[in-house]
Amino acid sequence: MKRIGLFCSGGDAPGMNAAIRAVVRAAVFHHMEVVGIMRGYSGMIKGDFRPLNARSVSGIINRGGTILHTARCPEFMIYKGRKKAYEQLKKAGIEGLVAIGGDGTFRGAHRFTSEFDIPVIGVTGSIDNDCWGTDYTLGFDTAVNVALDAIDRIRDTAASHDRIFFVEVMGRKSGMIALWSGLAGGAESIFIPEARENMTACAREIVEGRKQGKTSAIVVVAEGEEAGGAFEIAKRFQKLTGLDYRVTILGHIQRGGSPTAFDRILGTRSGVAAVEALRKGKKNQMVGIQNGKMVLVPFSRMWNRRKYPDLAWLKIAEMMSV
Ligand code: ADP
Repeated sequence: MKRIGLFCSGGDAPGMNAAIRAVVRAAVFHHMEVVGIMRGYSGMIKGDFRPLNARSVSGIINRGGTILHTARCPEFMIYKGRKKAYEQLKKAGIEGLVAIGGDGTFRGAHRFTSEFDIPVIGVTGSIDNDCWGTDYTLGFDTAVNVALDAIDRIRDTAASHDRIFFVEVMGRKSGMIALWSGLAGGAESIFIPEARENMTACAREIVEGRKQGKTSAIVVVAEGEEAGGAFEIAKRFQKLTGLDYRVTILGHIQRGGSPTAFDRILGTRSGVAAVEALRKGKKNQMVGIQNGKMVLVPFSRMWNRRKYPDLAWLKIAEMMSV
């Protein structure tokens, strides 16, 4: 393989740039050319391509977001769009692809490669860490640490003003960020979409805690939690206890910022593994990390499988809030 294409697609995640840098430099090391495809499948259809060399990726390992930009592309969902994309790749002499994205990106890639003869290797870029087949997705560690930093800051105000705070973190379908940042931030209670909401227990613990001298509390809520996020949970809490509260929604700040060492290393190892996989003739697989080792997981095995958080962590959080 002489020339490969590289793109990011779906939601951005910190560490994508580290993966881009690694793909480009590993390819250059092996005397391969890399073409950057701008804005995911959308740029593929338009033929928005830029040659990348070792110097094009200087000074980006520490930057969040993606220098290749990312997008969602409804046109790629239909056959005509995918055919156009394939013709653009052929015209540019691109023989293989590295896709950095989430579940949807790989679903699209899988469909594409079953229709057209081009190998794709995926690198997971997603802050949610809900991708089956890998212990961690790229960007999760950074997002957790951003959320944790915010929780620590909110705790200062909560403690000074004797207040109860409900902090909403990202995760429409996944409670991973809430569980990790909540446990690390010493939250009194954590609400996630994967577990049945237990407001009565949360209210009881906080009221009990106040009787025992606790003057403030932090409750972490995943945005996709079944009751409808932090505002709804907080309202229910007030109805049960009559206590005053504040709500903070962290939102997109969790997606940005300089990636942690963990995400930079995961991005670097994943990018190198993706190039090695293409060189070995592998196709339609995702690069993942399992027990510290880089592994390849076929796209077809990921469908219909969901990664669940360890719900025992909720019990630990409860024990820690006595
Ligand atoms: P993520 O990769 O972060 O999960 P999305 O679910 O938005 O993000 O998917 C990114 C893009 O992948 C979509 O905008 C679309 O272009 C493509 N895609 C997703 N699912 C499919 C599919 N079933 N068939 C073809 N393309 C798809």
